[in-house]
Amino acid sequence: MRIAMIGSGYVGLVSGACLADFGHVVTCVDKDPAKIAALQAGQMPIFEPGLAELVAKNVAAGRLFFTTDLTQPVREAKAVFIAVGTPSRRGDGHADLSYVYGAAREIAAVMDGFTVVVTKSTVPVGTGDEVERILGETRPDGDFAVVSNPEFLREGAAIGDFKRPDRIVIGTHDPRAEAVMRDVYRPLHLNHSPLLVTGRRTAELTKYAANAFLATKITFINEVADLCERVGADVQDVARGIGLDNRIGSKFLHAGPGYGGSCFPKDTLALMKTAQDSGAPMRIVETVVSVNDQRKRAMGRKVIAACGGSVRGRTIAVLGLTFKPDTDDMREAPSLSVITALQDAGARVRAYDPEGMGPAASMLDGVEYAADAYACLAGADAAVLVTEWEEFRALDLERVRDVMRAPVLVDLRNVYRPDHMAQAGFTYVSVGRAFVA
Ligand code: NAD
Repeated sequence: MRIAMIGSGYVGLVSGACLADFGHVVTCVDKDPAKIAALQAGQMPIFEPGLAELVAKNVAAGRLFFTTDLTQPVREAKAVFIAVGTPSRRGDGHADLSYVYGAAREIAAVMDGFTVVVTKSTVPVGTGDEVERILGETRPDGDFAVVSNPEFLREGAAIGDFKRPDRIVIGTHDPRAEAVMRDVYRPLHLNHSPLLVTGRRTAELTKYAANAFLATKITFINEVADLCERVGADVQDVARGIGLDNRIGSKFLHAGPGYGGSCFPKDTLALMKTAQDSGAPMRIVETVVSVNDQRKRAMGRKVIAACGGSVRGRTIAVLGLTFKPDTDDMREAPSLSVITALQDAGARVRAYDPEGMGPAASMLDGVEYAADAYACLAGADAAVLVTEWEEFRALDLERVRDVMRAPVLVDLRNVYRPDHMAQAGFTYVSVGRAFVA
């Protein structure tokens, strides 16, 4: 099947490459000429494990193409996916749908024959109705169907998630569109990935409900962690103790600096707004949003407290900048709030991240970047581990202690064990683990 993917970012590029790998002929379109030029030259505009190889393989097989012009690919495609960004709208937190509607207008102008327009971007309930209206308005004679097919992949594990999803959600009541979507995902269906066909609005809401639930789970364990610190309990054990209950499950129960990334912050906010506008406010989600916002900056204060109450004039080493490991995505990363809080308190910040320093440089002022973890730690008065990249999991503690001016480590991901760190001579602070030596 010929497929056009409008938007070649984290979701569009990964989805396009995976669909090509299923055997479809996919053209990824993007408005950003630099992104397309890089892709045509075999360079990945983002860091995602396995992506470069997957793209190269499918380009070589003649199944994957890149262009800035959607005319030809849309005209030839049976399914046109919209995978453009839906960031928070400045000022009110609603999802900004201008890119989605813009893409819909461009598609409408050129589509030819029966076309299934599939919204893969995360969009509020009712967006599919508006996309349908735009298509119909531009092409009253058009033969098309609008389907919601939200994407659940995680950055850092995106290819595996796309190819082996827990489920595929398809929102349509149009039998012709459903048949096309079943063809798109046939290889996964053969793999026994459940395919859930629902109404379009239900599919749209399912994505937000999933993300809000996961954000709630993280925020819940984060608050349990704070309580653990006050009462002398260990959040890791509490998480294990509750996570082994099948009704709860062990995932998303890792206490830390608060959730970030390109999805949870904006999606919880957008769901909150939709719920308020619909007269069914979701108080739990409202609280999660507010607790998480405050938490990220509070992590800066945690570092300051570990330094004895002041960081003025001190050098703080920040290990990890991206919102999670195995991505270069800095959107809403907790490191941004932690670093700003430290700088506001007069600290000098030196940072190292395996993939995120390029994107971080345009988002942070006054940060010095190091070539590796040890260069980052050299001469530092304290260190804070913000992102649990694999290479930070087994630091040579003796070497760390030797290169730092003072052996103070604030571990916001609970990578190390409090007893080991105490033995190694560190002042060690983690999240929700009140260690008494
Ligand atoms: P992104 O910002 O990485 O990519 C979006 C791309 O769309 C950009 O490259 C932009 O240039 C392009 N674009 C915008 N308008 C266009 C147009 N009219 N024609 C062609 N290209 C256009 O965004 P992303 O992270 O891939 O997210 C896309 C959507 O998927 C969002 O709604 C997001 O919420 C959702 N989503 C993201 C993830 C994730 O992990 N990143 C996971 C699931 C769902």
